[in-house]
Amino acid sequence: MKLLEDRILEDGIVLPGNVLKVNQFLNHQIDPELMYAIGKEFARLYNEEKITKILTIEASGIAPAIMTGLILHVPVLFARKQKSVTMQNALFTAEVYSYTKKTKNRVAVDQKFLHKTDRVLIIDDFLANGQAVNGLLNICEQAQAEVVGVGIAIEKSFQDGARLIKDRGVRLESLARIASFDDNQVRFVGGKGL
Ligand code: 5GP
Repeated sequence: MKLLEDRILEDGIVLPGNVLKVNQFLNHQIDPELMYAIGKEFARLYNEEKITKILTIEASGIAPAIMTGLILHVPVLFARKQKSVTMQNALFTAEVYSYTKKTKNRVAVDQKFLHKTDRVLIIDDFLANGQAVNGLLNICEQAQAEVVGVGIAIEKSFQDGARLIKDRGVRLESLARIASFDDNQVRFVGGKGL
């Protein structure tokens, strides 16, 4: 998606450890118009899939997920990282290792919001080694909900996540695919770069 790639080139900063900082429009300050365009693109890609629910993980997946849900007219559910006193019902949970925080979290979804009749689109901001998506896939498995696909804003294609998702037989659509950060410069799959 050209709009997203251009924005990454304009505002993205490559940090040590293969981390791309996009605090300008996605991970801290959020550009709602860009998020809306991302939501429209996911909605277009998965238009035929009769999606009933979007599933993401807090916090940074919520912005692109909510725009997709707005356009598809379906609810957006996010897995929570900290158990809250408001979560009193039975939970689906999964262990997720955070790429950026280097900590393990048990993420949870209230069982009343995810059912075996659901057709789920999983959305997240980044795909690195696939831990976050894997946790969400496990939660859907527990609920016996059908995952119709995964939508990622920024995929780091040189890491393992994309292959792991495809190996599980799940459709993956990523809007910007990064081939490398060589010399601290972003290069996209297909050649475009700084
Ligand atoms: P994974 O679970 O696929 O290894 O990593 C994906 C999660 O880690 C995303 O939810 C995202 O929050 C975070 N993440 C992974 N790589 C990056 C990155 O390069 N930049 C930022 N800002 N977040 C990342």
